[in-house]
Amino acid sequence: MATSATASLPLAHLLPVTAVLGESGALSVGGCDLPALAREYGTPLYVYDLATLQRQARGFLQAFREEHEETTALYAAKAFLNRPFARLIAAEGFGFDAVSGGELAVMLAAGVDPATIYLHGNNKSPEELRAAVEVGVGRVVIDNLGEIDLLEEAAAGAGVRQPVLLRVSPGVDAYTHEKTTTGILDSKFGVAIATGDAEEAVRRIAEAAHLDLRGLHMHLGSPIFELTPYERGIEVVAAFQAEVCRDRLGLDFDELSVGGGFAIGYHGEQEPPPPAAYARVVCGTVRREADALGLPLPRLVIEPGRSLVGRAGLALYTVGARKEIEGVRTYVSVDGGMADNIRPAMYGSRYELISAERPLAPAEETVTIAGKYCESGDLLARDIETPRLHAGEVVAMPAAGAYQVAMESNYNLALRPAVVLVAAGEARLLRRRQTFEDLMALDVDP
Ligand SMILES: *Cc1c(COP(=O)(O)O)cnc(C)c1O
Repeated sequence: MATSATASLPLAHLLPVTAVLGESGALSVGGCDLPALAREYGTPLYVYDLATLQRQARGFLQAFREEHEETTALYAAKAFLNRPFARLIAAEGFGFDAVSGGELAVMLAAGVDPATIYLHGNNKSPEELRAAVEVGVGRVVIDNLGEIDLLEEAAAGAGVRQPVLLRVSPGVDAYTHEKTTTGILDSKFGVAIATGDAEEAVRRIAEAAHLDLRGLHMHLGSPIFELTPYERGIEVVAAFQAEVCRDRLGLDFDELSVGGGFAIGYHGEQEPPPPAAYARVVCGTVRREADALGLPLPRLVIEPGRSLVGRAGLALYTVGARKEIEGVRTYVSVDGGMADNIRPAMYGSRYELISAERPLAPAEETVTIAGKYCESGDLLARDIETPRLHAGEVVAMPAAGAYQVAMESNYNLALRPAVVLVAAGEARLLRRRQTFEDLMALDVDP
């Protein structure tokens, strides 16, 4: 839906695909005027654009299936989940990655087919494993040696043979932040191939009467802008399957999950590879390695989280206080911050910010956008160029759809923001804003 108005918007490549300059001169997404949404629902406000979500979901599914027909796509729900959102994702033909009993419960309450759910996690509790087995999740992705006995016990108790994948750690660096790289040896996730632990795990799963090993899983980290880590990871995992699982242990299976980690742009000129580029490298490497090693062509699984929902989401804030420190820095504070977006404080993530009221206004100064919470590190964007923002002005932060609302907190007893979905000129609440009563709802007088 690229119109000339979209093309002229600054940072159009970071904004939802329906972003245009509205008739009032303000930023419009999904046919909705953003300052009007801010007035109606209050700020901070998270706005998801259905068209962007659908474009991303269909883009990944089509790109991979064109290269490799037997591809299953799962949404890594930790990026953002509630019941109505789960239904939107399921409608696109996606299954789900769950990483907790809570996510599993929300998916089931939304009516998601349990057979399309894969349960992940480096420390699944016996209760979570039992619940997963009892509802019949499609796969449990075994993450460590100790989990094998726990899961065998849960499956035996339920009288079922549970299909599983084994998450291996291929020892490949994804060149991303140290807090989000997961495929290296020194990681809490997965069983290392290099140490022999993965072989030991495969042997023990094969011996477990109630576990059915369907394949291997890797997830290298996130966001991964380079394509070579996927190529390296798949090579290592395929060699492990051929040399260890097949040749040494005599095991045959044909499922391979390459995880997620597909990148989105957050700032500046950052341009992630398109879905087709990831698909070409992943599927091409899978085919090449299967041919070279005489392995069956696997059923491929991909698990995008960020890349499905990140660009679809925008955060709206209202500008408040301004503090100029002569010769040092100017802080412009907004009415949200680390309670709704911990990513800058946690990972040093960089963001852009634009005026939702006058998106074409030229930059006039360099400022640091501060949150309102009681931490000096509560800064949403450092040293960015903005027009001179005034108190009361509504501003939009692009690329806010993944790992923001999902990681929110009630720090300073902040109210969790409302979430709205926009499509074809209509806005629908996906989640209402919290109230002061909600903040006190769990209190118990002793
Ligand atoms: C978080 C996660 C993903 C998704 O990562 P994104 O960067 O959001 O695509 C996929 N698979 C597993 C196992 C994960 O933990």
